[in-house]
Amino acid sequence: MNPKVGVLALQGDFREHLSVLAALGADAVPVRRERELDQVAGLIIPGGESTVMDKLARAFGLREPLRARIAAGMPVYGTCAGLIMLSDRVLDALPDQQTLGGLDVTVRRNAFGNQLDSFETDLEVPLLAGPPVHAAFIRAPIVEAIGPAAEALATLDDGRVVAVRQGNLLGTSFHPEITGETRFHEHFLSLL
Ligand code: GLN
Repeated sequence: MNPKVGVLALQGDFREHLSVLAALGADAVPVRRERELDQVAGLIIPGGESTVMDKLARAFGLREPLRARIAAGMPVYGTCAGLIMLSDRVLDALPDQQTLGGLDVTVRRNAFGNQLDSFETDLEVPLLAGPPVHAAFIRAPIVEAIGPAAEALATLDDGRVVAVRQGNLLGTSFHPEITGETRFHEHFLSLL
């Protein structure tokens, strides 16, 4: 049987992730409650606004259940704000901002200046077979430091890291769900 996969649907572009997963034949459902989290074998944390997602996760009583599932090894893929949520350390966070953690990395929020707030580029991602990944960055974070437990999967031409993994956790600064790129989602589904 196809395992159920969830997309955290508190805020952000969760609908786009649900469409990509459905197009790949996955049984994908939105997750807003602990009982919905209990039913999924893996989770995508979408792009959006990490400060708001953090507040809502706490208000919905999801923060601790999410941390427990991450600690138990559930496959989780975070894009942009989702990557921030999965990072152990955040620079330029709001004073009371918390993350779920799991990835031994330091990310910087809104790391590209005003001019480059949003841009698209092609990235070599050796983990994924085939042509380069066309990646959209929207007020994106950058991975500023990687601890020994995590591994870089892609870098910009200047060497800055924009995709990482650690065990069953995967994070990208960019949004494959809006450029028709499905290989990260396929990789995530292969972990289930
Ligand atoms: N700047 C946002 C944040 O800090 C992330 C932007 C995005 O997810 N596209 O959460």
